[in-house]
Amino acid sequence: MIFEEEYYAAGAPARVSQNGIFLLAPTLFAHGTEEQRARLLPRMARADDVWAQAWSEPEAGSDLAAIRSVAVRADGGWLLRGQKTWSSRATYADKGFGLFRTDPTAERHRGLTYLLFDLRAAGVTVRPIPQLDGEPGFAEIFFDEAFVPDADVVGEVDQGWRVAMSTASNERGLTLRSPGRFCAAADRLVDLWRRVGDASEAAPADRVVDAWITAHAYRLRTFGTATRLLEGGTLGPESSVDKLVWSELDVALHETALELLGAEAELSGPDGPDGGRWLSGYLFSLAGPIYAGTNEIQRDVIAERLLGLPRGDRR
Ligand SMILES: Cc1cc2nc3c(=O)[nH]c(=O)nc-3n(C[C@H](O)[C@H](O)[C@H](O)COP(=O)(O)OP(=O)(O)OC[C@H]3O[C@@H](n4cnc5c(N)ncnc54)[C@H](O)[C@@H]3O)c2cc1C
Repeated sequence: MIFEEEYYAAGAPARVSQNGIFLLAPTLFAHGTEEQRARLLPRMARADDVWAQAWSEPEAGSDLAAIRSVAVRADGGWLLRGQKTWSSRATYADKGFGLFRTDPTAERHRGLTYLLFDLRAAGVTVRPIPQLDGEPGFAEIFFDEAFVPDADVVGEVDQGWRVAMSTASNERGLTLRSPGRFCAAADRLVDLWRRVGDASEAAPADRVVDAWITAHAYRLRTFGTATRLLEGGTLGPESSVDKLVWSELDVALHETALELLGAEAELSGPDGPDGGRWLSGYLFSLAGPIYAGTNEIQRDVIAERLLGLPRGDRR
């Protein structure tokens, strides 16, 4: 976390292997074997292997347990069949981690296994999907008898849901969105206000201050989470609170920047103010309430699992 804070404060570029470092690495620390950690983590840290997360399917997003892609037993491993979608960075990544149904007869959340696979292996086809900004940010992945050796099962066979929830808690509440990212953006927002803000208008100034305070409150909360984990605690449903905070903060922070910039905000690319950074950041921020589990789902988790309210009417 401290490294990330310094990294963002230095204005360093976006990390190429985010899904590996922030999502799979903590999962391997919790559920992987010594052999997997030794084999995969150093290559991941050097970005020799760039990883993609392959959970979502055309009929399984919020309802992740509805996944239909299967892994069928084969000599020394598993054969993958099916389709994944919205897999960030899969267009250029080397490897993927995903959930596959290994026991079709089991209840929905059981019979799933967490598997690692090679995105360039025989039987794997990657089809890029352009994002709102035109970049091929994510991709569909098709599996047609792609082989995965037993060494690439993370955790127990048929126990993948538990492993996936460990990844999701990190994604929502600790590693994916470093407080350093938002504190640095909030500092840039204060700087923008100093350059273009109108001191006689209180409302935009208040929003700048709100964004800065929220970024720093999120930082303190994340330090609290890290302390709790160091003392033997675990990450659980409270991660959903963090996810709401960082995703809504990112939208509010960028909306405020666009408001300060007025009509000029619409200029994109190098001709835009601050190199078009605020506009591209705003477009990406709109995805925050969707990825890592939508904010509606986070509110369901908070209502049911933290506040103990009755379960909503869903499957
Ligand atoms: C930028 C971006 C990057 C992504 N990267 C990845 C990735 O790398 N790997 C990956 O596997 N996936 C990725 N995703 C996919 C993401 O996880 C899904 O889009 C998300 O889980 C929602 O699933 P869905 O799109 O199928 O929408 P649906 O589940 O169909 O939801 C549609 C709407 O209904 C609401 N809804 C659904 N169920 C409920 C409910 N029970 N209660 C209340 N509201 C509900 C949702 O909140 C949403 O507003 C990415 C998405 C985006 C936008």
